[in-house]
Amino acid sequence: MIEVHELTKRYGDTLAVDRLSFTIPTGVVTGFLGPNGAGKSTTMRMMLDLDRPTAGSVRIDGKHYGQLREPLKYIGALLEAKAVHPGRTAYNHLLWMAQSNRIPTRRVDEVLSLVGLTAVAKKRSGGFSLGMGQRLGIAAALLGDPKILMFDEPVNGLDPEGILWVRNLMKALAAEGRTVFVSSHLMSEMALTADHLIVIGQGRLLADLSMNEFIDQNSHSFVRLRSPQPERLLDLLTANGMSARPDSDGAFEVVDADPARIGDLVAAHGVTLHELSPQRASLEEAFMRMTADSVEYHTGAMPTHGLSGALPADEAAEPPPAPAPASAWGADWRSTKGNKKKES
Ligand code: ADP
Repeated sequence: MIEVHELTKRYGDTLAVDRLSFTIPTGVVTGFLGPNGAGKSTTMRMMLDLDRPTAGSVRIDGKHYGQLREPLKYIGALLEAKAVHPGRTAYNHLLWMAQSNRIPTRRVDEVLSLVGLTAVAKKRSGGFSLGMGQRLGIAAALLGDPKILMFDEPVNGLDPEGILWVRNLMKALAAEGRTVFVSSHLMSEMALTADHLIVIGQGRLLADLSMNEFIDQNSHSFVRLRSPQPERLLDLLTANGMSARPDSDGAFEVVDADPARIGDLVAAHGVTLHELSPQRASLEEAFMRMTADSVEYHTGAMPTHGLSGALPADEAAEPPPAPAPASAWGADWRSTKGNKKKES
């Protein structure tokens, strides 16, 4: 179990993490969700002792990371893919990590096989594709057979097959009783993987709830209606106990209504409809509503429906993070995601 208590990180004027408290349960996949710049990576780095908190604490099974002997046996992490030395082979990269934590050498072959890299084990990682790099990072995280696993945006930049593989791996690891903590800026991704959600925005906790609770609270169904006789339609709905709210483009939305009942009703009263469509609010939309005030950069107005154009400007253009188990590198290699992140 991981307990985060009043965790705070300030970089100069930027309050990256703001009195964050939550507990990560065991045996489930916990999604760590927030728009770009919300403070996810900073929080994860502090959990692994790669960044010092301005205030607050993280306890891993009751201990601070620095108190763990041979930490790779407790907690494995994929934070940044590219932090692997490019001239080193996949095998040698894992070998020195194994030796530094007194992990048996045979485990290197096991994890290479587990992630499907056996055939390229003796190749230099500098020539690896992004997907292979992510797999190597995941192999490193699994090396010590840890009970706790942490992955920062693990599917960023992967192809559909790679994404599916990572998803299934997360679920399988949790089903084995491990704590799996995975960050993402996409609700749609978390909806397919996570059992529990921790949502942050501007470093602050916005929600800490089960995926089912999130779905119950946010995924309501509604019927969209459009009519050239809007007043007659509204009167008819109201007279039959249904309340309709106007949509942004002249249609009406009736929440939790039966489309067949509405169809029968308007037919019986001769009201013309140009649209009657059952809809379900998307979780992505609910997430964006929740975090709308906290996104770092806006591209313009939030769309009423769908995702297009709603992501922070640097999101789509941002190159996928390069994998590397942050816990495996010394201070010189503790790079962050981009030049904007210079320790101050
Ligand atoms: P996320 O992982 O959710 O995208 P980050 O933790 O990377 O968010 O960043 C949170 C905020 O802290 C951002 O405003 C980011 O620019 C800033 N930040 C992160 N790391 C550093 C750093 N090393 N120096 C200065 N600012 C940083």
